Amino acid sequence: MVLKLAEKIVIVGGGQAGLQLTDSLRRGGFSGELMLVSEEESLPYHRPPLSKGFLTGDIPQAKLLFRPQEYYAKREIHVLLDHRVSSIDLAGQFLQLSSGDTLEYDALALATGARVRELPLNGADASNVHYLRSLSDTLRIQTQLAEAKRVVVIGGGFIGLEVAASATKMGKEVTCLEGADRLLGRVVSPFISDFYLSAHQSRGMKIVLNAKVDEFSQTNGQVDSVVCADGSQYAADLVVIGIGVIPNQELAESAGIVCDNGIVVDEFARTSATNVVATGDCTNHLNPYAQNRIRLESVQNAIDQSKTAASTLLGTLEPYNAVPWFWSDQFDLKLQIAGLSTGANHEVLRGRVDQDKFSLFYFRDEKLLAVDSVNSPADHMIGRKLLSGNCQLSPQQAADVDFDLKTLLK
Ligand code: FAD
Repeated sequence: MVLKLAEKIVIVGGGQAGLQLTDSLRRGGFSGELMLVSEEESLPYHRPPLSKGFLTGDIPQAKLLFRPQEYYAKREIHVLLDHRVSSIDLAGQFLQLSSGDTLEYDALALATGARVRELPLNGADASNVHYLRSLSDTLRIQTQLAEAKRVVVIGGGFIGLEVAASATKMGKEVTCLEGADRLLGRVVSPFISDFYLSAHQSRGMKIVLNAKVDEFSQTNGQVDSVVCADGSQYAADLVVIGIGVIPNQELAESAGIVCDNGIVVDEFARTSATNVVATGDCTNHLNPYAQNRIRLESVQNAIDQSKTAASTLLGTLEPYNAVPWFWSDQFDLKLQIAGLSTGANHEVLRGRVDQDKFSLFYFRDEKLLAVDSVNSPADHMIGRKLLSGNCQLSPQQAADVDFDLKTLLK
């Protein structure tokens, strides 16, 4: 598939990926018509604080915006908010909007992101049961959180634990129910899971593992407790469900673009359709660090893949080859992940677990695959550099705190 150089580019989705595309396209010299269509009412904003500093009230709403209105005006980026794209006509190169309007394009960028996975239980639609993906979700949670005493969080992944930590910090009685036998099981090793279990417990949160949520008990349309399959019950004034996300691929799929757990793209962010790229949480891409097709849900991926997509739209093919990284703030603990640990066959600890300051280096034999750092930003940054270069770090060097990792970068 070859992309024609475009005069009019339309971006669908005003999240991290959509915003980055506007920036990279204009910086890359695109002077044609540029349009960003978003179904949300707000200008593009940072999602990470929604479960952290913004939820607790430490970060004001004004700080959430990536860019003020003037940014878009100055760069002649036409932003169409509160508009959903309902279909794509690939042959005619136009979009149908739910308002009934149509929008033509020369090239199209799909940055439709992901939406929450819903829990199929009666009562999940009660007004005190919430999911968290958008600013409006957090605003709704905040209103009820102010009054709530007991909070039940369903899901011990990143979003669930961040919300649970934020609510605990705010003085709420918080129970986190996780269906698996450990926290964060999809992404970190059992060692890190165990660390987070005791870290959260020692900071006042109740965590129940192997919890199979079965029912919401309700009074007057409000959930008052969460009932598990073993009969245990957890009283709740407020429930937040964080059980993962699913990619928004239906728009692409119904147009005939190949999708498979996300919109399938190549290393240049090209979809199966001519003149259509896709980027961010909505994509399934071949990641050199996974040596496989994966879908990443991270700020890093949204930014770096959008840079690749912008280059493609501008006529320069630069393969996506960025080291995956991620962070999560829970209480006073900053977890930073560099690389992908899938396929590791041993781990090496560096630092002091008892001081909440350490890193876990994941190796496949002698090859470094990933580094999980807790309150150790220098290890994280070095880990990213080591992973992106051809430097060799041995497991012995990683474990030796007297060995200066920086010497490997020289
Ligand atoms: P999205 O942000 O999902 O944006 C897609 C946009 O497209 C949405 O506004 C959506 O409404 C819109 N859209 C979809 N379909 C249409 C349509 N048909 N028409 C018009 N508009 C449409 N990542 C980290 O790396 N670190 C963190 O600490 C972290 N914390 C997070 C905390 C929370 C609470 C959440 C929700 C996410 C967090 N993430 C974090 C993940 C990170 O925010 C996402 O990976 C990133 O925002 C993905 O950006 P995106 O643009 O691909 O998708």
